[in-house]
Amino acid sequence: MNPVHEGQAARRRGRLLTLEGVDGAGKSTHVDWVSERLRAAGLEVVTTREPGGTPLGERLRELVLHEAMGLETETLLMFAARCEHLRTVIEPALAAGQWVVCDRFTDATYAYQGGGRELGASRIAPLEQWVHAGLQPDRTWLFDVPLEVARERLGRARTPDRFERESDAFFERTRASYHARVAADPARFLVIDGELSIDAIRRLLDADIDRMRHAG
Ligand code: ADP
Repeated sequence: MNPVHEGQAARRRGRLLTLEGVDGAGKSTHVDWVSERLRAAGLEVVTTREPGGTPLGERLRELVLHEAMGLETETLLMFAARCEHLRTVIEPALAAGQWVVCDRFTDATYAYQGGGRELGASRIAPLEQWVHAGLQPDRTWLFDVPLEVARERLGRARTPDRFERESDAFFERTRASYHARVAADPARFLVIDGELSIDAIRRLLDADIDRMRHAG
């Protein structure tokens, strides 16, 4: 390309990378590390999370995590927060060539509301179609751990929210729904054994990031 015109050329779209898994699987532990790793490679990075990621979304997050509400209301609030997040943060960042690292995204709605709370994927899919308008993450890292490991880690780590207080059966349905998401779109996912050491997981993520960068 002629360097004079390079600045005028359409910027290459960025990438959307999401981290998923049941509470306690260990995903949040890696969010900042992934972002720093990408910055060190010279990329512009936006680090964000769901529910949340915008001032309105963070207020909705507080409601969804701590207030009692019906399942449909909960699901719609998740998508309301997501819509704001996509339109005002994620889509503009991707259009500007930035890489977006997001702690949870729509797979979590399929897993928690769809599976854990048994709303079913068929109720979520039309909302996803509407709000995503064709967008999907370029890569999703699914952190996978058995129930006992997640419980043990959460017990040490923090006061549980509405989801973290749920039953073992809820946990198993949520985990199974994540695996159903992987089965439906295996190329998008990398399933990470969350029982590996933090360093071993970083090595896997590092290799995957390198692969993505060199895939162009
Ligand atoms: P999540 O975001 O998936 O709910 P966190 O990243 O907050 O999980 O991790 C939950 C707890 O488990 C934290 O105390 C964290 O330090 C610990 N943890 C995270 N990853 C690992 C790991 N690979 N091995 C051991 N402990 C871990």
